[in-house]
Amino acid sequence: MTAKFTLDELQQAYAAGQIDTVIACQVDMQGRLMGKRFHADYFIKQAVKETHACNYLLATDMDMHTVDGYAATSWQAGYGDYVMKPDLTTLRPLPWLAGTALVLCDVLDHATHEPVAHSPRAMLKKQIARLADLGMQPMMATELEFFLFNQSYAEAHAAGYQHLKLASAYNQDYHILQTSKEESVLRAIRNGLFGAGIPVECSKGEASAGQEEINIQYADALTTADYHSIVKTACKEIAWSQGKAVTFMAKWDYSAAGSSAHIHQSLWSLDGQTALFFDPQAPNGMSTLMRHYLAGLLAHADALTYFLAPWINSYKRFQAGTFAPTKAIWSRDNRTAGYRLCGEHSQALRIECRVGGADLNPYLALAAQIAAGLDGIERQLELEPEFRGDAYAANHVRTIPTTLRAALEKLDHSAMLRAAMGDAVIEHYLHTGQWEQFEYDRRVTNWELWRGFERA
Ligand code: ADP
Repeated sequence: MTAKFTLDELQQAYAAGQIDTVIACQVDMQGRLMGKRFHADYFIKQAVKETHACNYLLATDMDMHTVDGYAATSWQAGYGDYVMKPDLTTLRPLPWLAGTALVLCDVLDHATHEPVAHSPRAMLKKQIARLADLGMQPMMATELEFFLFNQSYAEAHAAGYQHLKLASAYNQDYHILQTSKEESVLRAIRNGLFGAGIPVECSKGEASAGQEEINIQYADALTTADYHSIVKTACKEIAWSQGKAVTFMAKWDYSAAGSSAHIHQSLWSLDGQTALFFDPQAPNGMSTLMRHYLAGLLAHADALTYFLAPWINSYKRFQAGTFAPTKAIWSRDNRTAGYRLCGEHSQALRIECRVGGADLNPYLALAAQIAAGLDGIERQLELEPEFRGDAYAANHVRTIPTTLRAALEKLDHSAMLRAAMGDAVIEHYLHTGQWEQFEYDRRVTNWELWRGFERA
């Protein structure tokens, strides 16, 4: 099995006894796969058309708590159903789960069958359609980092997530010897994803003990977000199957590096033949279109932050001297910058947004990037001069909001994002962020206990 399935191929695989289970799932606000496992026979005959799930899946927090105050759904409205409509272009075998295939679903209103505006896939599709109206398509990649532990999720949980056993004892950036020791997991991840039709480029050790990166070949933005969601789940499932655990928290430990999800992006003609960011005659090969797009990203960098860093923990990652950025400026091949120019003077010319953590929701993050870039194009924004040097040390340059509270404030006041995504959608996610902030504000952390228990 090396590719995606057509429905016919699924039928054949079922008839041949290779597949007996189909996971039909949507992506929730946290970026998780949520859905049901169907017997293949029932899926092929019935669920392939549509299935249903409680609409609270787009209104709960990480703990599945039913959060009051959403306009879209509530106890008062009875938490009814949404339709989950399988997108058969995403149907694929999952070689790491015995006899199992997976399909991603679009979330539709139960009565009207219209896309649910605040569902992550619909939000990204909307921005892609706006670009398509201008004859362009976004090609993107997300580079996911994570930490690998030599203990199971159950053991980590039982230990209260204390004294966790990292897969290595030292910084393993590009380290072949150390990552050879981790091949039972990483090789299974690369080959499993490849077998699911996800074009893995490589995995590599990263700049902290136990840290890994997985790179998937760039694709159109929706496909990339789909890959991203499946990759995260696959890494967890494969690690779990070997009695190990991985985490995609943006910052799981104060003394370790953070985990990012850098977003590489470029615009292409709809036929995929012309790299619209590339102009061989222009400085650095950057086309005027690219300069406007990047100017849009920078102009809205503060308002975008929520969609790149949606949780309390996300903001712990933004620390100077850690390869996670603190400044929203652009620079050429400079890893201290929030926005880094890559692939200069070539068709591969692209912008890497380094702001997002591995805990972002890819659909929301990519949608927000496109919306900002589009605004730059539509208003023909002038690109500021490139930044040179150590951005961590720079004063008087645009900073990235340092707390969720500050990022929510910027989101709330973004006329651009409200216009691009719709007021109701922005209000929905503001409520999500504000709930996260409220939950955190009233909790007492370990840090406070260690600091104050005796000495306060
Ligand atoms: P680096 O190591 O400098 O971050 P890589 O060469 O590993 O960069 O590429 C990072 C990601 O960028 C890969 O997932 C790759 O597929 C993607 N990429 C390459 N070209 C483009 C492009 N034109 N548009 C968007 N993404 C691209």
